Amino acid sequence: MEDIRFCPEHGFYRGETCKCGRKGELILDKERVEKLGRFISGILRHFPDKFGLEMDENGWVDFDELVRVVKRKYRWANRWLIKAIVYSDWKGRYELKDNRIRARYGHSVDVKLTDYPIAEEDVLYYGTGEEEAQRLLEIGIKPVNQAYVHLSTTIEKSEEVARLRTDEPIILEIDAKKAREDGIRIIKANEFIALAKEIPPKYIKGVIKL
Ligand SMILES: [Zn+2]
Repeated sequence: MEDIRFCPEHGFYRGETCKCGRKGELILDKERVEKLGRFISGILRHFPDKFGLEMDENGWVDFDELVRVVKRKYRWANRWLIKAIVYSDWKGRYELKDNRIRARYGHSVDVKLTDYPIAEEDVLYYGTGEEEAQRLLEIGIKPVNQAYVHLSTTIEKSEEVARLRTDEPIILEIDAKKAREDGIRIIKANEFIALAKEIPPKYIKGVIKL
């Protein structure tokens, strides 16, 4: 986890120096980034009900309501600091629009995400380990503890995901074009992540060992 700083020209960023070389003002140290980020993503992905937040079918909650809930837990937090978390997040975890906020991916709550664009990639990737790969080739890719399967738009990203769990990543190549033609809904969460309810085994068209 990194500090969040503010550059007068480029806004919030994570790390020591901005892309322009300036060292901006410290907004949140890494401990607070961790705490606040974990809490916000927890609410938006897993437990909005626990804090009485109303979430619509596309995962949106009212931003004022979220700020209220967050402030109750962390007295030092405020609207501006929550925006700092959102706007500096290079993984594209959040979306803040029209005074509503949502997580872009990672939900365990049942969200429909009807307003997401359809993924246009012909091939998508899923990073995993050797043993798991064998199993997925038989049964297909299904979400575990999540509402959606998370696919990567590049081999590099799928490798990053796989390396969190294994030293010997296996990348499964998904024929997204064929799946789409057959009516499987694959949606785009952000530049690097596409989501599907399930990928049946017949759409796994290749296995890459790294
Ligand atoms: Zn800058």
